[in-house]
Amino acid sequence: MPYRLVPRIFMDKIFTPPEKTDRDGRAIFAPYPLRKVEAILTSHGFNVIVTPPEKLEKVVSKGAKVIGINTHDPLGIEPVSMKLSIIFGGGKTWTAKFFEELGEKIKKIKSKYDIKVVVGGAGAWQLEKEPPEWIDVVFIGHAEIDFPEIVKKLEEGEKVPRVVKARYPKKLSEIPPIINAARGGEVQITRGCPRGCWFCSVTPDTFISFPIDYILKEVEVNMRAGIKDVSLITDDMMLYGAKSLREVNHDAIIRLYTELKKAGVDYINFAHISAAPVKLSPRTIKEMSEIAGWNEQKAVSPVVGLETGSEKIFNKYMKMKAFPWGYNNWKDLIVEATAIMNDSYIYPCYTMTIGYPDETDEDVEQSIKLVEYIIDHKPIAWIFPLPVIPMGTSKIRDNPLPAIERLPSRYWDLLYMTWKYDLQITRKLARTITATSKNKVVRSLATYLIDKVFNNVEWYFKQLKESKGKSALSYKDLNLNTTYGVMWAIAQLFKLAFSSSG
Ligand code: SF4
Repeated sequence: MPYRLVPRIFMDKIFTPPEKTDRDGRAIFAPYPLRKVEAILTSHGFNVIVTPPEKLEKVVSKGAKVIGINTHDPLGIEPVSMKLSIIFGGGKTWTAKFFEELGEKIKKIKSKYDIKVVVGGAGAWQLEKEPPEWIDVVFIGHAEIDFPEIVKKLEEGEKVPRVVKARYPKKLSEIPPIINAARGGEVQITRGCPRGCWFCSVTPDTFISFPIDYILKEVEVNMRAGIKDVSLITDDMMLYGAKSLREVNHDAIIRLYTELKKAGVDYINFAHISAAPVKLSPRTIKEMSEIAGWNEQKAVSPVVGLETGSEKIFNKYMKMKAFPWGYNNWKDLIVEATAIMNDSYIYPCYTMTIGYPDETDEDVEQSIKLVEYIIDHKPIAWIFPLPVIPMGTSKIRDNPLPAIERLPSRYWDLLYMTWKYDLQITRKLARTITATSKNKVVRSLATYLIDKVFNNVEWYFKQLKESKGKSALSYKDLNLNTTYGVMWAIAQLFKLAFSSSG
């Protein structure tokens, strides 16, 4: 969200509280990508300390020569940030604000110590064109092949290009398993995706399925640190072990789930799945769910690409999305795959990519028809139309960033209808959603938002629809990190309380 709309105290106390560390500042849990970099550098003989920003100076004071930063969204322009920023009147997101604040901290550290700074991670592409001056190297891509060499050169004071585009590993033997616990029990099971969508950043990756022994080794590392749940990192759960897009490797997936359960994993979650292989092998979905023990209280909500209803956009930017079927089967494929998933307690979060330079209102009209068709079948699914982002490793990287004036005007109708449906589903699943959080305050806040706030903000989305997004600009100066902003927010909450009790 734009930082002006979420008071700092919420971030500090609830959403991004300080990470736990040991006495030396080592993080107890860290994001999986950082754990991967740690494993790679350690296997090359480097002494690595993974630490959160708040402990950085303490760690640096012990003689570090290079600071490496993993960033997901340093400028606040990844798809969800961009959407929320556009629909709430713009401004810097919290991700961008935190990155800026980290930059200030590093400038101070650099004034005291002779140290180099390299920034990588999924969002590093955002810094490629204009890296801030405190960054010595922007590293784009995976770390296995080129990162150790870059770090060595930085340590030894050799010259390194300002932006490095890394080579991709092609063999499993080049990718060491993690050696310390990843936050949320994350474990990667596949890399890459052969469907080759133009807007997608994983397209250049060589497709790899990690063997079960390798995965279990990483799960064990997480379990030793007390994490009983596993979150499988994959761009498509159904691709695990696949030799082609024509066939799901049912046995490999079922063996994986069975072994995870045997290892003592409590809850199995996964990040992404595609609709086509769900229809190819419904029995795989059913068995996965039975082994994992998903039910109404313990369901999963992976992200699934819905993208578009437009034939032109589909065939140009994501031709393989429905393979082994094609565009003509797209809408029925989605409806059937959703029903199969819903029967097994998989509640998809469908994401759409809207705003390609050649996308017209007619194309969005076809997307609206697709969404209407899906909603008519009353699935348990959310639908999020996101502005398409020209990510740095995708084929559309030279496209302009989305903006209100560049989105097709019918985008706002699509946003309004999906908002209304998403709200219905959120209310229906309120108990499941709030049950997933172990934090009492977050649980109460989520319940309050669902019960009182979301229900009363339909007018906001209606205004967006009627003004084609321009109404968002009337709130561009609202800042809940100022006294006036807080007073305004309290007044609105009173209004909501009275309107809902009346
Ligand atoms: S199907 Fe998904 S992961 Fe695969 S290329 Fe397309 S967007 Fe990327």
